[in-house]
Amino acid sequence: MDKREIICIVCPIGCHMELVQDRGVEAGYRVYGAQCKRGRVYGVKEVTRPTRLLTTTVEIQDADLPRLPVRSARELAKDKILEAISLIKKIKVKAPIKMGDVLLENILDTGVDIIASRDLTEAREEKIYG
Ligand code: SF4
Repeated sequence: MDKREIICIVCPIGCHMELVQDRGVEAGYRVYGAQCKRGRVYGVKEVTRPTRLLTTTVEIQDADLPRLPVRSARELAKDKILEAISLIKKIKVKAPIKMGDVLLENILDTGVDIIASRDLTEAREEKIYG
């Protein structure tokens, strides 16, 4: 019998949950310790098909900052995260970029795009007054 202990991260209360496999219930697990339905749903998902929002940065050329924050448009399967980061590292972008611009479509055939998390304009030339 599979038994897992996890801490719910859905809200700041952080309930300690125990999930016990039970083929007799629809979700496949009995959840103990959760104070609400959202936590129970999270717990079952976490032990059956865990996902994460991926956030990282990529190098950007011709911008005021050297790195552009990027994220997955939706959550990705947790076991795809490291492979996805390796692909994202290879992206080369150039300013200007708008928040939400798609930088990589359908990463690893997951149906999830990698998008810019903010605007970055082209670097302005320094003006010297004197
Ligand atoms: S189970 Fe509900 S109350 Fe407890 S941490 Fe999760 S979301 Fe919050």
